[in-house]
Amino acid sequence: MLEILQIPVLEDNYVYLLHEPGSGATAAVDPAVAGPVLEALDARGWRLGHVLNTHHHGDHVGGNLELKAATGCTIVGAAGDRHRIPGIDVALKDGEEFRLGSASARMLDVPGHTSGHVAFWFEDDAALFCGDTLFALGCGRLFEGSAEQMWRSLERLRALPAETKVFCAHEYTQANARFAVTIEPGNVALRERVERVEALRREGAATVPSILSEELATNPFLRPESPEIRARLGLPGVPEVEVFAEIRRRKDVFRG
Ligand SMILES: [Zn+2]
Repeated sequence: MLEILQIPVLEDNYVYLLHEPGSGATAAVDPAVAGPVLEALDARGWRLGHVLNTHHHGDHVGGNLELKAATGCTIVGAAGDRHRIPGIDVALKDGEEFRLGSASARMLDVPGHTSGHVAFWFEDDAALFCGDTLFALGCGRLFEGSAEQMWRSLERLRALPAETKVFCAHEYTQANARFAVTIEPGNVALRERVERVEALRREGAATVPSILSEELATNPFLRPESPEIRARLGLPGVPEVEVFAEIRRRKDVFRG
């Protein structure tokens, strides 16, 4: 089983250190900065072998080159983004496997936030590292992709086992919650979750990871089939992607 260490950095980013104790293999997911990652490695006596990047944004790859210089690690990212992931050594395509000791991940193409966005799914550990595609109670902004692309990506993630833990790259949950309750105010599970999120944040605790089953029940971006959401948006009977696109549009201009 993987040990997963969550390192909060910058304003609201999470970097993850994955450690497979049998082999000692260790990887960092989306190191925005190198310093706190090197400190965490030092404190545990772990040796960094790999960096896994979900996409090219600076707050996900900013520590790549410094980590590579300090540890000699191998940098893994999407083949399609080979030209803009600093220091990339291994370019994976959709469905290809990444092995970390006895653990293994499948790389999933999930474009929309950026055109070359990927997720790393460790099936045996029920862990998904999805960068800025799916957030707790939210989803990433569409900087380079279309709503159709993002919806296909979210449908892929939505189909993973419900017990999958969702390790997204930002602590955005509280702001996402304020928006979510405007879209589906009658969702009791959502209201209960918002209370839990607020209590956690009052204590300065992380709301990430979440469980995919919670997202399916409460995240409006995964719920375009909800009759309440459709009625509120005035979109009965349209394809799910159109409901998703309207929720995304509203979030873009939401001032909570
Ligand atoms: Zn991003």
